[in-house]
Amino acid sequence: RFPALFSPITIGNLTLRNRIVSTGHETHLSEHGKIGDALIAYHEARAKGGAGLIVTEVALVHPSAVFVADPIRVDTDECIPGYTRLAEAIHRHDTGLIAQLFHPGREMLASEDGTAPVSYSASAVPNERFHVMPRPMPLEMIAEVIASYGDAARRMQAAGLDGVEIVGSHGYLPAQFLNPHVNKREDHYGGSSLAGRTRFIREIIEDIRRKTGPGFAVGLRLSGDEMSHDGAGQAAMLDACERIAADNAPDYFSVVAGSSATLAGSVHIAPPMYQEAGYTAPLGQGIRERTGITTIVTGRINQPQEAEKIISSGQADMCGMTRAMICDPLIASKAEAGRTDDIRACIGCNQACIGHFHAGYPISCIQNPVSGRELRLGEAPGISGKRRVMVIGGGPAGMKAAAAAAERGHAVTLFERDTQLGGQARLAQLLPHRAEFGGIITNLTRELELAGVEVRKGVAVDADLIREQAPDAIILATGATPRWPDFEGRDDLHVVDAWQVLRGEAKVGKSVVVADWRADWIGIGVAERLAQNGHSVRLAVNGYMPGQTIQMYVRDAGIGRLHSLGVETLPYMRLFGADEDSVYLQHIMNDEPVICEGVDTLVLCQGHTPENAFEGIVRDLGIEFHLAGDCIAPRTAEEAVLEGLHAGRAV
Ligand code: SF4
Repeated sequence: RFPALFSPITIGNLTLRNRIVSTGHETHLSEHGKIGDALIAYHEARAKGGAGLIVTEVALVHPSAVFVADPIRVDTDECIPGYTRLAEAIHRHDTGLIAQLFHPGREMLASEDGTAPVSYSASAVPNERFHVMPRPMPLEMIAEVIASYGDAARRMQAAGLDGVEIVGSHGYLPAQFLNPHVNKREDHYGGSSLAGRTRFIREIIEDIRRKTGPGFAVGLRLSGDEMSHDGAGQAAMLDACERIAADNAPDYFSVVAGSSATLAGSVHIAPPMYQEAGYTAPLGQGIRERTGITTIVTGRINQPQEAEKIISSGQADMCGMTRAMICDPLIASKAEAGRTDDIRACIGCNQACIGHFHAGYPISCIQNPVSGRELRLGEAPGISGKRRVMVIGGGPAGMKAAAAAAERGHAVTLFERDTQLGGQARLAQLLPHRAEFGGIITNLTRELELAGVEVRKGVAVDADLIREQAPDAIILATGATPRWPDFEGRDDLHVVDAWQVLRGEAKVGKSVVVADWRADWIGIGVAERLAQNGHSVRLAVNGYMPGQTIQMYVRDAGIGRLHSLGVETLPYMRLFGADEDSVYLQHIMNDEPVICEGVDTLVLCQGHTPENAFEGIVRDLGIEFHLAGDCIAPRTAEEAVLEGLHAGRAV
């Protein structure tokens, strides 16, 4: 069983039990910039689940590195107690702990106190994504920042951590010195020579070594290819790694792809589901072969089989399986025990992990709402007696509710009127680049099996069946149907809804207007699918851009594809009316009319109407009932699964 993945490996003084790494990622779980109980519980769940190494999220080494409100800081000794508690918790489970040390340079999002941030970089070269014009770092400042990495490393050592990792990936400050397009300096840190461009990183490693002594692990995270129009490419990064390894070698390279400096490059920070599993492995292999240094690769490695293949083939020594562990913290122990079918595989949707970070919420997972909520939801409540629970509706909410109730010891039967489980997740997987969304159904189906839920598909529940079942409690998860708003001329034009299109039930004409009310995954996906199939598509969005409610990397890539396919997007539009060959829109800011002429078909993506007819029936029968998912109000998959968990724990 995965002999390469579960063989020990040594980094510095640190021997790890396996090759599975939770790499550094933002969690929003810190408490006013300090490590507290929530963040400790989060990481400890992964250590308990068998992770070999945990790398904590970015921590700022210097006051000039403050890039968001309330970041974790390691530029004073105040950080030591929190990291000490974290190290004690992680080491209890025989898992290594390394801290990321961070300076964003020009990748500046905001300042701590809300004033306009001043950012520093190698040179005054603006970044495209945040539109930041940095100041070039004076030599005295460079020396101070380099020393701040060493000071921070000394604090981490004092806290009992096993090492530190310099974040030189994704276009952050060390990468800005490496990149000749950004480093235009003419001094000895200058961009025209490899020795100059690598000097900043080499001196950081030297300073850390000097202040922490031998054996304390020092890692360097780099993008093996920044995959941006002005980023450093693979050849440049290979040369840089070789030069760094020549006289200031780190103990390991942690290899990713992409750059935060551009929208196209930032997609690789958390690659969406359409990226192939392990697509960064060749980048890691190149660095490993060129330098002979231990290498970690990260990039959509969501299953142990994939990690085993990468390690046993010599592409890397270790694999970052970060989202895989956000989705299933037990992935390592399940893989080691041969329980691969029980792994809840990450689908790369980005919705609740990095999506929450961008929205300013604590991290979680759409499939595993306990992630990031370990203190509140980590333990299911016990039961005082086994109850008969009937769950009506087999979408994500009903499936999760049934599994959660059965895991607690109740006798649960799940009824689904369709012949297949999955609800709207089955439609989502039909959209372009979203096939993996169906994984949520596979994973929840396995949860039902493991929990011992009786599943009855193709059964339409009515009052008689409820009486016959005589449940002690009912969970209603009956979903929703597409909303068809009233508008003038609705019967004059050929009108269909998105579900009909996705199911292949609708005949769609050549010229199409997609009227997208929610600006979520449906409108952007249906427009892309129709354009792929040769239709001429106009996408009218009731918002500022298509897909505005989905995670930005998923959205940005989708918008790029719409542009490539020639889809005309019309933002800020309200559906107003239609006639036999036109759709009438209104600008939502000034009510001015916009007319789309020559339309053959109008496709409605107008949200959903809750399907809650059962509520009255169940209420009349006087049976305890709980609601979950779309039947309350239209829900995302994430909200549906979370509500399912709550309902399953409430019976
Ligand atoms: Fe994976 Fe989506 Fe969960 Fe993030 S939210 S860990 S991408 S399944």
